[in-house]
Amino acid sequence: MIELKGKPVADSVFTEITNQLTLFTEKKWAMPHLVVVLVGENPASEVYVSHKEKACQKLNFKSTLVKLPETATESDVRQTLEKLNQDQSVDAVLLQLPLPAHLDSKKLTEVIYPNKDADGLTQASLGALMAGQQKVASCTSAGIIKMLEFYNINVVNKKVVVVGRSLIVGLPLFHLLLQKNATVTLCHSKTENIKQVLQDADVAFVAIGKPNFFKATDFKKGATVIDVGIHRLPEGLCGDVNPESAAGHLSAMTPVPGGVGPMTIAMLMKNTMTLALENRIG
Ligand code: NAP
Repeated sequence: MIELKGKPVADSVFTEITNQLTLFTEKKWAMPHLVVVLVGENPASEVYVSHKEKACQKLNFKSTLVKLPETATESDVRQTLEKLNQDQSVDAVLLQLPLPAHLDSKKLTEVIYPNKDADGLTQASLGALMAGQQKVASCTSAGIIKMLEFYNINVVNKKVVVVGRSLIVGLPLFHLLLQKNATVTLCHSKTENIKQVLQDADVAFVAIGKPNFFKATDFKKGATVIDVGIHRLPEGLCGDVNPESAAGHLSAMTPVPGGVGPMTIAMLMKNTMTLALENRIG
């Protein structure tokens, strides 16, 4: 079984961005500027945000972290985002999710201008994706497509299944796969007989947020499985798929950790670069 590692793919994205940066130096443009808005003190979010800052440093991007307290009101977050929308020096804005329970993440994400929407989560960005006209798409989903390209995984004329329909992973991935001419079945918590559907799939993408929920043998023999899930258990990190017995059953699978994870940050940098170029060139 081939282990589909994210690091070499993420490295190739970093190289692509570094090449694009030469234009910024030549034209004496300000470096791409990403602002992350973090509300409250979620330890996992703090780790992700520090990885994002490190990635910006590595590329010499400008990175700003705006921290708001757990008690921030909807109006506080809205005002912060509106200010960033107006700030000409800011290319890309990411509202770190999840937000504290009293805040409505869909409503607040919508405040971000689409031309600064680093994770492609506003309705305008999602609509553009559905129309095949997106500038950027959700970092995790776009990162998975990069992995398919890097590892030459063909999805045309294959039976492809996505499990999970969240706006951040499953649904954008479904649309990106359609754009790749895959014929895609999208499953969710109300789908009956998912395991039967999986037994027919050549390539399966799993993003349900439930640790070790699927067994390798739930998939067709010889299938390729992309596990998006990531969970911190007392015994360590794991995905939505239990990798036990994957080796003799699947042809390829992403490890957790080290599979899809590194792609999310790499694509956040790529999306920031795309938005920065749009802002410079129009
Ligand atoms: P989410 O918002 O909770 O969505 C989960 C989706 O899975 C929903 O569409 C839900 O269906 C579906 N689902 C739940 N239980 C199911 C079941 N038993 N059978 C079939 N479908 C089921 O989660 P998310 O934000 O998409 O994240 C999914 C996983 O990916 C999580 O583990 C998350 O940590 C991980 N993730 C990883 C990265 C990364 O960088 N590696 C990035 C983002 C997310 P309904 O719509 O019917 O409720």
